[in-house]
Amino acid sequence: PSTEFELSFRRVRQNIDEIWHHLRNRMSKKSMSFVNELRYNMIYDLDVLSDRDNRWRYEELKNLSNFVQNRIHRLQNPSDCGTAKKLVCDLNKSCGFGCQVHHLAHCFVAAMALNRTLICDTDDWRTPSDQPNSWGRLFQPISQTCGDPSGHNRTDWSDDKLLNSYQVLYYPIIDYMQPIPPFLPLVIPTQIADPLVRQSGEPFIWFIGQVLKYMMRPSSDMSQYIDNFKRDNQFKHPIVGIHVRRTDKIGTEAKFHTIHEYMFFVEDFYNKLDLKNERNSVHKKVERLVYLATDEPEVWRKEITPYQEKGYVFKGDIKLSESADPYQRREFESLHNVVVDLLLLSQCDYIVCTFSSQICRLAFELMQTRHSTQDLSQAFYSLDDIYYFGGQVFHGKKALVSHSAQNDREISFKSGDILGIARNEHNGYNTGDHNRTKHKGLYPRFKVTEFVESVPFDVFD
Ligand code: GDP
Repeated sequence: PSTEFELSFRRVRQNIDEIWHHLRNRMSKKSMSFVNELRYNMIYDLDVLSDRDNRWRYEELKNLSNFVQNRIHRLQNPSDCGTAKKLVCDLNKSCGFGCQVHHLAHCFVAAMALNRTLICDTDDWRTPSDQPNSWGRLFQPISQTCGDPSGHNRTDWSDDKLLNSYQVLYYPIIDYMQPIPPFLPLVIPTQIADPLVRQSGEPFIWFIGQVLKYMMRPSSDMSQYIDNFKRDNQFKHPIVGIHVRRTDKIGTEAKFHTIHEYMFFVEDFYNKLDLKNERNSVHKKVERLVYLATDEPEVWRKEITPYQEKGYVFKGDIKLSESADPYQRREFESLHNVVVDLLLLSQCDYIVCTFSSQICRLAFELMQTRHSTQDLSQAFYSLDDIYYFGGQVFHGKKALVSHSAQNDREISFKSGDILGIARNEHNGYNTGDHNRTKHKGLYPRFKVTEFVESVPFDVFD
């Protein structure tokens, strides 16, 4: 199968959902049950068609992942740290855990683009925890051979033509990059662009997921903890993850969402599976497992009962959530809990969350790196924002066909035009602006495709 085939295939799958979103905003619940059954059946048939080539898809993505992991490993473990080119990054950006991890990922991207070993003093990580060596207790070290930030000369990021002649480069946080480097998110490496665009509906998210996969390789303690947790709590597939982010986020960076809003999409996921079983003449109902990750213990105590009564089984640990009280975040346990939630969410088959939270974006990024025969790039529903990487330069869509505005809220464009995307309205439309005319407004999602930019990354040469 060619890239065109794969892109069209994924587009058909997505457009089935676009019709659904469009109609569920306009039609009564009763008429929607017809649409839903039709949709489940169409998805089933598409999955049958897609299964034909899944082995090949799986192999190509797995090989690509191994290639990227090997190159990062080689970059991070130079044979002579004394002469290695280095990029130094300070993990202590003053923000939450997810934001700090994304900051380190941003440094990793630069280290890979410039072929410099990333040096980061993770021992000096002033996390919300008072305890020393938090990073080392959670994750494996980012290098086995090279942690010394010194070198015979050093410089800061600038437009100095001689940048490359310095052994040590100090790298700033993404918000203060000047000049803007060509490899800043959402740009992907040219060397892996072809197979990646063919295999993933979200090439950048897959790529940053690979960076995180390396950075966040669990320590042996953490691995053991996760394995025990999964065994003791019967964490098994299929399972849907929901991330309910409340406490300090509400009213500042995000809106409040009821449990029903999350569960609507969980139910939809399982209805689809029930139909699949029926078509395959399997009469046993799928157990409806939900992994619940939240910073709000009240969700466990008060909100999930009606769904438990309907037969949903919730996994997770209320004790974990209880200690995640925002006012007790200085505890290492709290940090440990977030990481456990994050890693387990990333192992779910589908995630429902709010992408305004860095934790959920991290989980979704990591999810893409799993060696699965399913395309996981659409295995989520965000109740608020679309995906973004904080500080990203541009998120563009390319028009497949032209469009003339149907009212003054819509914008017009020609095929080939580049449009920005600010929001998915979940009714078949995006909000965004036209790159050239600068007009801002609504446009149909089915008329555009992802605009992927790539530049060469030296680490892959
Ligand atoms: P964001 O604020 O959600 O974008 O992400 P940050 O990493 O900046 O802050 C997240 C903080 O909220 C974490 O350090 C936790 O204290 C808490 N938190 C968020 N989600 C979860 C979760 O799923 N489980 C637990 N235990 N805590 C969470």
